[in-house]
Amino acid sequence: MKAHDGMYIDGAWRPAAGPGVIEVVNPADEQVIATVPAGTVEDVDVAVRAARAALPGWAATPPAERAARLAALRDVLVARQDEIAETVTAELGSPPKLSQTVHAGVPIAVTGSYAELAATYAFEERTGNSTVLHEPVGVVGAITPWNYPLHQIVAKTAPALAAGCTVVVKPAEDTPLVARLFAEAVHEAGIPAGVFNLVTGLGPVAGQALAEHPGVDLVSFTGSTAVGRRIGAIASGMVKKVALELGGKSANVILPGADLARAVNVGVANVMSNSGQTCSAWTRMLVHHDQYDEAVELAAAAAAKYGDRIGPLVSATQRDRVRGYIAKGVAEGARLAAGGPDSPHERGYYVSPTVFADVTPGMTIAQEEIFGPVLSVLRYTDEEDALRIANGTVYGLAGAVWAADETEAVAFARRMETGQVDINGGRFNPLAPFGGYKQSGVGRELGAHGLAEYLQTKSFQF
Ligand code: NAP
Ligand code: MG
Repeated sequence: MKAHDGMYIDGAWRPAAGPGVIEVVNPADEQVIATVPAGTVEDVDVAVRAARAALPGWAATPPAERAARLAALRDVLVARQDEIAETVTAELGSPPKLSQTVHAGVPIAVTGSYAELAATYAFEERTGNSTVLHEPVGVVGAITPWNYPLHQIVAKTAPALAAGCTVVVKPAEDTPLVARLFAEAVHEAGIPAGVFNLVTGLGPVAGQALAEHPGVDLVSFTGSTAVGRRIGAIASGMVKKVALELGGKSANVILPGADLARAVNVGVANVMSNSGQTCSAWTRMLVHHDQYDEAVELAAAAAAKYGDRIGPLVSATQRDRVRGYIAKGVAEGARLAAGGPDSPHERGYYVSPTVFADVTPGMTIAQEEIFGPVLSVLRYTDEEDALRIANGTVYGLAGAVWAADETEAVAFARRMETGQVDINGGRFNPLAPFGGYKQSGVGRELGAHGLAEYLQTKSFQF
């Protein structure tokens, strides 16, 4: 057990204002592995002041130099990749391979992409008799969840720094250790004092203080829709910019003519990965009624194969919440084709990979985000029915379409109310804008579109 003290503020590890601590638990064995300070309103205030003081200097730093610092940061993350992966495995419970490739690998790719974008982005443009400057928005307050703990921090910090903004991050209470590691990496990369600051703490205390701080110009939040709504209200009340990356309930639409086995297997893998704790996961599989029984059988077999390889959920609270949804699915008349509410291990916050059949669109498990390894298979009669079901939730974050050919899949995808669609198993692209339609959020992350979120325009007329 390691008791960490201090938070990274103004280029140094500073003691917290109060005595409160947060215990970090390894969800695989339920042991406390570390404690970190529980930051207060005072800590947030010191951090925001540091970020404000650093803003003019960083905003005036030439983009090429900001790019060089981001490239250095990427190199430190590469050098510390094993340590990052081990830390995420310890605090989130993700299997080591996933920690290496995704939890450590994706932040390296994203940091690298912003090193390149900072160097090449057109921060100035001409239109008619005007010159338009794209200037940093200012001080960013970033509030992040635990599901991809480093990625969520990097997806906000890297574009913010590329834009010339300074940042205060409040990471999730369940996963503060990789956030601390990231602050060390920022320091090693030679990013000037105050440009990046880290305050660990509880959401309703430190998170709320950050959102409410008058010195914050933009609040960027990723997390649940319930908290996002509150943050949005605070930000608009204070006329701050706000970006919200919220929940999802994405549809995986398998059209007749698609490679059914591939579509089902990739679909199950998508839902089970990271133990189902992925906002963009395709948690509703839509299958034509002629292929329905076969698809359910394939999905159940694929889920059963995940039995031993799946990690725990992040916390007892999340495990209980997910098991509650499984019980609700059974109570509302869905049929368990794989898994169920019983824990597969005696210790650790595990949930069995679960597949529900005979799910109808109005059921709770087809409408609410579950955030665990739970797939619902729904039946449709024709394409119009499939589209109605696919678009029939309050969310619109991601999705997938499988068809006999790309043209047919694209024609369907164009009609989906969602921010991302994978066509016939398309690969993740760290440069593609990521974000939600409807109640899945406001704003976009990643790539050039993610950078633009941290910029505001000023035009000169000549
Ligand atoms: P959450 O409870 O909303 O927490 C997210 C962050 O907000 C945490 O840092 C949390 O602190 C903080 N927070 C909680 N209450 C707050 C308050 N009153 N004021 C300010 N901050 C507060 O979400 P979660 O359960 O950790 O994460 C899972 C959710 O995130 C899912 O709904 C998922 O879909 C969503 N998500 C969305 C995306 C996307 O890009 N759209 C990506 C990943 C996850 P504590 O840790 O102390 O609670
Ligand atoms: Mg929470």
